[in-house]
Amino acid sequence: MNTRLPKDRFNDYSWDAIRGRISKLSGLNGQSLEYLESSTLDPSLAKGNIENIIGFSQIPVGVIGPLKVNGNHADGDYFIPLATTEGALVASYNRGARAVTLSGGANVLVYRDLIQRAPFFVLENVFKAEAFIEWFDQNFEIMKKVAASTTKHGKLVSYKSFMQGRIVYLRLDFSTGDAMGMNMVTKATHEICEYIMLHFPVERYIIESNMAVDKKPAAINTILGRGKSVTAEVFFTERIVSKYFRTTAREIDLAYKQQVTGGQLAGALGSNGHFANGISALFLACGQDLANLSESVVGYTYTEVLGKDLYVSVNLPSLIIGTVGGGAGLPTQRECLEILGCYGEGKAKKFAEIVAATVIAGEISLAASLVAGDFVTAHEKYGRNRPESSVTTGNNADKFSRSAANKGRQAQA
Ligand code: NAP
Repeated sequence: MNTRLPKDRFNDYSWDAIRGRISKLSGLNGQSLEYLESSTLDPSLAKGNIENIIGFSQIPVGVIGPLKVNGNHADGDYFIPLATTEGALVASYNRGARAVTLSGGANVLVYRDLIQRAPFFVLENVFKAEAFIEWFDQNFEIMKKVAASTTKHGKLVSYKSFMQGRIVYLRLDFSTGDAMGMNMVTKATHEICEYIMLHFPVERYIIESNMAVDKKPAAINTILGRGKSVTAEVFFTERIVSKYFRTTAREIDLAYKQQVTGGQLAGALGSNGHFANGISALFLACGQDLANLSESVVGYTYTEVLGKDLYVSVNLPSLIIGTVGGGAGLPTQRECLEILGCYGEGKAKKFAEIVAATVIAGEISLAASLVAGDFVTAHEKYGRNRPESSVTTGNNADKFSRSAANKGRQAQA
């Protein structure tokens, strides 16, 4: 059997090339791949985003809002597109958004904006390693110029050095304009490393030591930051907490603090309710690199009772986003960024602020539903796709609508 995937050396993004691969895959188990094959988007638009393309995956996109954001870059009421297959997520964030907006909005700002590459260098011994760090520091202005020769928008800003015997790790911090920046900083770092090899007696280097720490959760990212570091706050009045969440500020604050302890006992990195739900749905909708969820979702939620009112803040120290480059320009992804007014030049910090405001809407909604006891019922109502035979709970109307939906799906299949 020929196990090779069909490829077109001259135009691998043509429909002929795609059909060749699809018919190969259909032939393996006799299954039709009609939805992949009938994707309506032009495959050549995905050049630079994917190889061996066989179509476009379609994920439901919902919307929440308006969400009021009082940021340095995002200032106004926004409708937020969220792509997900998780029922109840959009409904929950929408409830939170309403409460945030009625409370005057989320105050939000980006307090740091740096992304890293972290090469390591092997020197002769510890003394040469120390001399290398000193030399690098003295020549830092030259390093900035070397980096600037590779990119218009990328700038080397600062660095931290770490030592392990004769190995020196340099964690280089760059600003990258509106791009998330990893291609940009990799090229700049390569030039810096080559310059170093010509001007200092280094035995060898590797461009990434894993100290960047790209696409992995790590304490260094939450402490020193990676990408956009963003913080947001909302002051919820007693009336809003009671009307929209059927509970009190004290109940939410107490439950949240008890959960923080639970997270500590579990050794969790970060401390939040469900940043991952909102951030992953925004990343999917808006063409962000999903692998960067690893660091982007590690963050902190804080609650405090002010009289009878509730103060909530979130801190996202390592949010990796971009509004140019990567997947931002793909068709639906670009449209979703445009719904937010966040596509392209000069929009990355605005987008980061909207992400943080969305996150806080999700945090209050989840905390409230846990306290008020509607966490299970909300998921029963919105978030289940069980086969009909296993449906055992819920009221008759719910059963009827689930059954109708399942029948619709079966008819399509
Ligand atoms: P990119 O699409 O490779 O580059 C962005 C481009 O946009 C640059 O050429 C930049 O030009 C240009 N640009 C125009 N206007 C800009 C503006 N306002 N702000 C910033 N740049 C602007 O994107 P990237 O962000 O560097 O890389 C993102 C991709 O890299 C993601 O898909 C990510 O998954 C991937 N990635 C790469 C690596 C790696 O090791 N290479 C690692 C992880 C992820 P100038 O450079 O001339 O300024």
